[in-house]
Amino acid sequence: IQSKLPKVGTTIFTVMSQMAAEYNAINLSQGFPDFPVSEKLIDLVYQNMQIGHNQYAPMPGLPQLREAIANKIKNTGGININIDTEITVSAGATEAIFSSVLATVNQGDEVIVLEPAYDCYIPAIELAGGKVVPVGLSLPNFTPDWQKVKDNITEKTRMVIINFPHNPSGAILTQDDITALKEILEENPQLIILSDEVYEHIIFDGNTHLSVLKDKFLASRSIAVSSFGKTFHATGWKIGYMVAPEAIMKEIRKVHQYNCFSVHTPSQYAMAEYLQNEQNYLGVSSMYEKKREFFQQAMQDSKFKVIPSYGTYFQVLEFSEVSDMGDMEFAQYLIKDKGVASIPISAFYSDKQDDKLLRFCFSKGEETLQKAADILCKI
Ligand code: PMP
Ligand code: GLN
Repeated sequence: IQSKLPKVGTTIFTVMSQMAAEYNAINLSQGFPDFPVSEKLIDLVYQNMQIGHNQYAPMPGLPQLREAIANKIKNTGGININIDTEITVSAGATEAIFSSVLATVNQGDEVIVLEPAYDCYIPAIELAGGKVVPVGLSLPNFTPDWQKVKDNITEKTRMVIINFPHNPSGAILTQDDITALKEILEENPQLIILSDEVYEHIIFDGNTHLSVLKDKFLASRSIAVSSFGKTFHATGWKIGYMVAPEAIMKEIRKVHQYNCFSVHTPSQYAMAEYLQNEQNYLGVSSMYEKKREFFQQAMQDSKFKVIPSYGTYFQVLEFSEVSDMGDMEFAQYLIKDKGVASIPISAFYSDKQDDKLLRFCFSKGEETLQKAADILCKI
């Protein structure tokens, strides 16, 4: 069979997690929390199963959940969203991204991806017949260079994919970035933004997340994607949502309807109720900020350089003082010889690039973080 995705292998997250298990290493590679989901939320799912909410949900998602999402958006400074036409509940952010790209990118369209980038964007673009145009974020702080983005726009550019708070670096958007994005949209009427905002509720130092849904003009030209897996630390539940203007959402739902149709019903009832208490999403940042502080403190006396993490549950460490190896080789060495698993940042680039950076996931208990840091500090 002729592969439609010849360059795609097993994801780096699976590869590193498997290797961590094989060598019994502390797994700070694949991003997932090691602490429990709220008992209240679990009870709500269970209760909804017991009372018989076990059949297909409506294709765009349970109306109660869409309404709760619209309220959350409004409550965090966003615009009014029409729940009938502008929100769709998805099987995680991954399905939302996939359905969005398949519905909007045509054969030969160009899509700008800011790299390093999360791994699911490029395969979706390629399956849609689009052409990936990678544009690098500027090191050391992974800031977007909008002039570079503009220089790569042609009349064929259909979409720019952004992801802030940023996986893998933890970079966030500033007001200047928002201004630049609006300028780009104004100058290029053929273009839309796909904004992957799965870490919207994990942002530190008193900053607020600058969602594309906080600006009417930006929202009118954007698809915003989020994930309850991140917000409620339940990555295995695979429930997320997307928001887009009606005309775009109409097309996305045509794909979602056959790619997935609808999402786990009892969980949707549960989340609709759980979202009524705003603390359940507004309180997430401070919980993770403590973990970031803990891990950074624990790494203070190491030869690794801590790159600022302003959001997400990832910490990038630079290791040029520690080793001359390439990042993949060094990540493998850390697992096999030292017992700590991370993700090499080069895996997030389409062209090999090695800046001696590793990503560590700090959504773990303090004991685990301390153990990993103790090992890393001795290297
Ligand atoms: N986008 C980014 C940036 C992510 O980190 C993830 C999760 N790893 C996803 C999308 C996918 O989210 P979900 O698990 O809800 O599909
Ligand atoms: N989002 C997770 C990460 O960045 C991985 C999800 C996955 O394994 N597909 O680590």
